[in-house]
Amino acid sequence: MFIEENKQLAAFTTFGLPSIARYYFEARSCEDLREALLFAKRRKIDAFLLGGGSNVVLAPSLNCLVVRVMLGGIEVTDNIVKVKAGENWHSVVLATLGQGLFGLENLSLIPGSVGAAPIQNIGAYGVEIESVISAVTVLDRQTLDFLSLDVSECKFGYRTSIFKEDSKDKYVVTDVSLKLSEQFTPRLDYPELQSELETESVLTAKVVSDAVIRIRKRKLPDPEQIGNVGSFFKNPIVTLSEFEVIKLNEPTVTGLHMPGNLIKLSAARLIDHAGLKGKRVGGAKVSEQHALVLTNHAHANYSDVEGLVGLIVAAVKSRFGVSLETEPVFYT
Ligand SMILES: Cc1cc2nc3c(=O)[nH]c(=O)nc-3n(C[C@H](O)[C@H](O)[C@H](O)COP(=O)(O)OP(=O)(O)OC[C@H]3O[C@@H](n4cnc5c(N)ncnc54)[C@H](O)[C@@H]3O)c2cc1C
Repeated sequence: MFIEENKQLAAFTTFGLPSIARYYFEARSCEDLREALLFAKRRKIDAFLLGGGSNVVLAPSLNCLVVRVMLGGIEVTDNIVKVKAGENWHSVVLATLGQGLFGLENLSLIPGSVGAAPIQNIGAYGVEIESVISAVTVLDRQTLDFLSLDVSECKFGYRTSIFKEDSKDKYVVTDVSLKLSEQFTPRLDYPELQSELETESVLTAKVVSDAVIRIRKRKLPDPEQIGNVGSFFKNPIVTLSEFEVIKLNEPTVTGLHMPGNLIKLSAARLIDHAGLKGKRVGGAKVSEQHALVLTNHAHANYSDVEGLVGLIVAAVKSRFGVSLETEPVFYT
């Protein structure tokens, strides 16, 4: 077992904040994972799982074992695709499209690993991964046994699941089984995607995937160019009456109607209306391109990010009475 000490993690995260792990290990098999968990147990330290590092905000010094989950492999049986946790999500999307299996096209170009995808139930352009998952195989971190969870056991919700709530830190995801379709059914609920596709004469899954990729490249800062973790805040969900009060204060705020008289607001719009686009604390900055994205503008550190988040949450609360919740995982 090759365990490194005092490992700099900045290059393993898309945000690129400086963060040193006391111990670091790359797990390439289930046996590696078991050994890593036993190592942490013996030393009475936490084991923190890292995938592609695209949804984490790490403190400068981590007194734990960071386990980078790098298990690889894809098995296809009819329309069920079972993928190991360390595979890159977007590569899997492209591979399935190439094999004539559909359902993942709207989720193109989401960064990160397959193993982390169920953690926050990744979603984009009207589709969430829960709609295509048939099972998630996990390793229980205490008993070191494997078990298979079906969709209902994963308790998926908007950017959440059992892995972020009741069973936080209980499991390592080792495989995700996706139930795809041999028949392509376009999911074009999002007006932005519809208008991107207006000029297309033939609608195939590849055409939809390419359109999603174009929109994302236009809208979101590329983590290869400037450090970020995508959306930093969840879109808040309010009641119809709360929405009416917000509209009195700021008539241009729009919302998406959801079942149960609920309205999903755009967190980006609220941040923008609060005049925070371009706002900086130290090296952390609210992106000029997209107000929901915080960027590592100039050697940002953890406290810059904490400071900027505090400022945004307070400003949106005082202007609209809405409490913003962060989306990435903070680990200290
Ligand atoms: C530019 C950009 C755009 C993005 N767009 C979207 C989007 O459209 N929709 C969306 O939903 N998300 C989006 N994200 C967020 C991110 O891509 C997803 O959350 C992704 O699933 C994170 O994968 P990761 O492997 O990088 O996870 P990491 O950041 O490495 O980890 C995230 C969490 O998962 C845990 N974890 C990682 N691997 C495992 C495992 N095998 N078992 C158990 N726990 C594990 C970690 O401990 C951590 O708590 C975006 C991020 C960026 C940078």
